[in-house]
Amino acid sequence: MIYLFQFKLSLSMDNKKIKESAKQIFSDYIESTGHRKTPERFAIVEEIYSLDGHFDVESLYLSMKSKNYRVSRATLYNTIDLLIDSKLIVKHQFGKNIAQYERAFNSETHDHMIDLEKGTITEFFDPRIRQIIEDACKKNNFELSHHTLYIYGVKRKQQRTRTKKTETEN
Ligand SMILES: [Zn+2]
Repeated sequence: MIYLFQFKLSLSMDNKKIKESAKQIFSDYIESTGHRKTPERFAIVEEIYSLDGHFDVESLYLSMKSKNYRVSRATLYNTIDLLIDSKLIVKHQFGKNIAQYERAFNSETHDHMIDLEKGTITEFFDPRIRQIIEDACKKNNFELSHHTLYIYGVKRKQQRTRTKKTETEN
């Protein structure tokens, strides 16, 4: 719980600076790979780095459309590919759901629990997981880029405080 709270807190700090840095990284990436620098692409970075949490392409498209951005779905998909390649966002495939994405620059590494019944996603962070992965990489002379860990299951209903015994007493 504390970890989750700290994670949210760090995201809210200096969001403007983070956005500017993300745009700079994207600009450098576009230059070095010979793609075109278009205002649409930077508007997409701006929009994604204003979002909190996960998103899919369709909801991003609708959100930008509602703000009167003229961005086609094709541009969106194409820019998302560039953003994945430049490590500014990560793509998730949670179970059978459509692909979801989230920003990767200046956001804490965290893992995901996927509820197989409701499809809800719970984020959590435990430094021990990252430590195990880093140790394993070191032992295997493997340079770590990033990791994804998906845990599938069903969220249990909150246990009732009333026990059987008290029910029979009534
Ligand atoms: Zn996440």
